Amino acid sequence: MLENIRIVLVGTTHSGNIGSAARAMKVMGLKNMVLVAPECKVDGQAIALAAGASDIANNARIVDTVEEAVADCGLVIGTSARNRSLEWPMLDSRECGVKAIEEAAQHPVAFVFGRERTGLTNDELQACHFHVAIPANPEYSSLNLAMAVQTLCYEARMAWLDSQAYKGEVKEQPYPLAEDLERFYDHLEQVLDTTGFINKSHPGMVMTKLRRLFNRARPESQELNILRGVLSSVEKHHKEKQK
Ligand code: SAH
Repeated sequence: MLENIRIVLVGTTHSGNIGSAARAMKVMGLKNMVLVAPECKVDGQAIALAAGASDIANNARIVDTVEEAVADCGLVIGTSARNRSLEWPMLDSRECGVKAIEEAAQHPVAFVFGRERTGLTNDELQACHFHVAIPANPEYSSLNLAMAVQTLCYEARMAWLDSQAYKGEVKEQPYPLAEDLERFYDHLEQVLDTTGFINKSHPGMVMTKLRRLFNRARPESQELNILRGVLSSVEKHHKEKQK
């Protein structure tokens, strides 16, 4: 799914940004980069900043126009650091990640990034279904290009991880049923009574406070089994001492 999201960099002037963007993509699991009329080469500086992601920078497809870069995409999202006069369906970065993941199973999705100094032109922005603005400090909202790439790739990854969470195997009874917890509390009370820690006829608030403690900790089934084992070992030890 993440591989079906392509990062389009338009008119990039600093080769280091291409390298840093490649790295930002690879750490988040994206690998498809397209350069539209770049104003620099994928040079040594780009490769140095790409670190282990130089394959992405080296394999970047180079085209002349945004139109060409996104021709086969079903969803195109353009980035903008500021609200322009141009009114367009807007997304914030989180919504952008979710939408991209929702659609990436059906068709390629593009995130389009602008020039370091001037961003995207109005024509380029109009080639996009949505615009996304990372909700930064309104008084200083322009991120470095590669950092904007990092932020949106991260959001895509988070949305993808969320979508996986539901598909993953359901953990078998990670949490005990209420009745199991009640059995545990009975057992605990009985043991504390045996050891003399509480007096069952005048129990005070101890059991309530212990319940609150275990409720807060929310033990998993396996952990509850361990606690039951601890109680049984105390009982056994106590019985042996009584003999
Ligand atoms: N003055 C330009 C800033 C360009 S910053 C402008 O107003 O558009 C270079 C690129 O980084 C932008 O074109 C965009 O792709 C990305 N970028 C920077 N800050 C961003 C933000 N807050 N939200 C979304 N993209 C951003």
